[in-house]
Amino acid sequence: MSKSRKLVRKMAKGQLSRAEALACSDCRHACHVMLYSDTKSQLFGRTPIKYIILMQMRFDGLLGFPGGFINTSQESLEEGLIRELQEELGLPISISENDHMDACYAPGTSPSSPRLITHFYVKKLMEEEIREVERVSASTAKDHGQEVLGMVRVPLYTTKGDGGLSSFLSHAFIGNARTQLVNTLLRLNLLSPKDLKKALENSLKTHANTAADLKAVLALTEAEQDQS
Ligand code: AMP
Ligand code: MN
Repeated sequence: MSKSRKLVRKMAKGQLSRAEALACSDCRHACHVMLYSDTKSQLFGRTPIKYIILMQMRFDGLLGFPGGFINTSQESLEEGLIRELQEELGLPISISENDHMDACYAPGTSPSSPRLITHFYVKKLMEEEIREVERVSASTAKDHGQEVLGMVRVPLYTTKGDGGLSSFLSHAFIGNARTQLVNTLLRLNLLSPKDLKKALENSLKTHANTAADLKAVLALTEAEQDQS
């Protein structure tokens, strides 16, 4: 790991290191990873895409990162994550302790069940490897059409009507996946804090429009129900 990666890791607040997280022996652990690559491709031949970042549309309709629960009595965090990636993406991705970015307690678990710690990994691949992940995950991966409805790329640019990243961020995410995405964009310098702030401000506006849109389709559905 480079010195700068170590430094940016230290700056994150309220988060656990891999060792601190593993010290909780009666916690459940889940691991997820952000796979990404550089790209020189451009949208409409003029907007730089810069990075291909992979997320997925999950079975529950939420956006998240590939990964899942780890059986810590039988496998290391990284072995478990590799197993999950094999199921969800359909091919082996090597993950090491060096790719561990941070861990934190997942909010909202019931007091009776063991606490859940979510670990987050970041792994940079070559663009061709990312494309291979996309091809295989949509064809032979075991979980395709089951736990995983499809892989999606995160748009980092902003289109003319303030679409792009801001619209993407206004969707619904599992757990703290949105925080993990935003944190990683900042910590790896994939986007400036200024651009990210602008996108997030626009996301809040999009969110308000979405609420209005949902109310309109609900009214439509209620009218239909009254007629039948
Ligand atoms: P999975 O098997 O991928 O659904 O993940 C195992 C557990 O981790 C589930 O209980 C999810 O609610 C939770 N989870 C999944 N993705 C995330 C995420 N990005 N952040 C926090 N929790 C997550
Ligand atoms: Mn999963």
